[in-house]
Amino acid sequence: MRTLLALVLSMVAGGREVAAQDAECVRERAAMVEAIRAYARSRVNALGPDGLSERVLDALGRTKRHLFTSERSCSIAYADAPVSIGHGQTMSQPFIVALMTELAEVATDHVVLEVGTGSGYQAAILAHLARKVCTIEIIPALAETAARTLRDLAYDNVSVRLGDGYAGWPECGPFDAIVVTAALGEVPPPLIEQLKVGGRLVMPVGAAYTSQQLTVVEKIAPDKTTTRTVALVRFVPFTRSPK
Ligand code: SAH
Repeated sequence: MRTLLALVLSMVAGGREVAAQDAECVRERAAMVEAIRAYARSRVNALGPDGLSERVLDALGRTKRHLFTSERSCSIAYADAPVSIGHGQTMSQPFIVALMTELAEVATDHVVLEVGTGSGYQAAILAHLARKVCTIEIIPALAETAARTLRDLAYDNVSVRLGDGYAGWPECGPFDAIVVTAALGEVPPPLIEQLKVGGRLVMPVGAAYTSQQLTVVEKIAPDKTTTRTVALVRFVPFTRSPK
């Protein structure tokens, strides 16, 4: 009985600790959003003089990045820096997540595809802005953890699938926007096929282990796209599943 009481008391204390940490993270998250807002205004070439939109900044402010990291540390999660998520992968710097989200021009009625779920953080940001998010991850353990995190946080409009995102996810599309978060030398043609006319694909294009060009492809007609490059970025490689 005494052990049970001790257990209950320690659970209550544990709950308080988590709540206290969450409260602390509120301050640190708000500070991160303000830092990113200011930094974005200096990236005129990538974003224009106004920087990031309020919608995207609001999504950053509402997404608990620390719950997508294994450390759950406020100071690590809300520095504007990449964070290791194991298996040789990283979640991107929040500014880059925000930039890609802005460039994808996601609207509330959109269906969005993400290739490279990783931690699930970028998917969560997209989920605040879109109607439905479908995200594909090639590493089983990451897909599993991200699906659990997103489910626990009640991101009910996100579906996670294990697989090679090169082929896209036709049953989930067609897509109003596609965000690819791993670097490849070319844009996979199936992704362009699954993009709606008027839709945008945002992706780091270039060789692995060097800088890549963050590229925006807009589908302007069924067989016509325009392409522009926005910034130099560094992403983990887009890998292909063994045949
Ligand atoms: N968007 C993630 C960051 C992911 S890092 C986040 O917010 O945390 C890039 C991810 O792409 C890695 O998890 C990697 O395993 C995954 N990836 C690489 N090649 C892939 C492929 N062909 N299909 C699906 N996912 C892939």
